[in-house]
Amino acid sequence: MTKRELRDKLQNLSGVKDFFIFVLDKYNPKYWGLYYPPVKMIVIYKLKENGKPIGENMLVKTCLHELAHHIQFHHVKNYKVKSRHDEMFKKIYADLLVKYYKGNIPRDIMAEIKKYGLFLEPFKSLKK
Ligand SMILES: [Zn+2]
Repeated sequence: MTKRELRDKLQNLSGVKDFFIFVLDKYNPKYWGLYYPPVKMIVIYKLKENGKPIGENMLVKTCLHELAHHIQFHHVKNYKVKSRHDEMFKKIYADLLVKYYKGNIPRDIMAEIKKYGLFLEPFKSLKK
């Protein structure tokens, strides 16, 4: 997937187009991705510690996470962000994941979400 394809995919999926995305061929020991609200910029660090690129699922997951921050900061009416990973964020992120994978969220992503517990609430309610 090229950077342009990735951006188009994210835009079509969310219906939101006012963000910038930079996919860097770099390893960042702290983050896979970052989002800068004032400049609406998503930065993704594509390389693992061993210099190899992260897999597509990991890339998508990271992009959707940062995109969820963008939507949270700029596209939810009558809502002000108090904490980045609040319930609003989780809902937006979960919706994006479900939409992207058409309900079939890959096992590795689900495993990670379960492990870190961040998204327990929204996922429970999304399981039908
Ligand atoms: Zn985050």
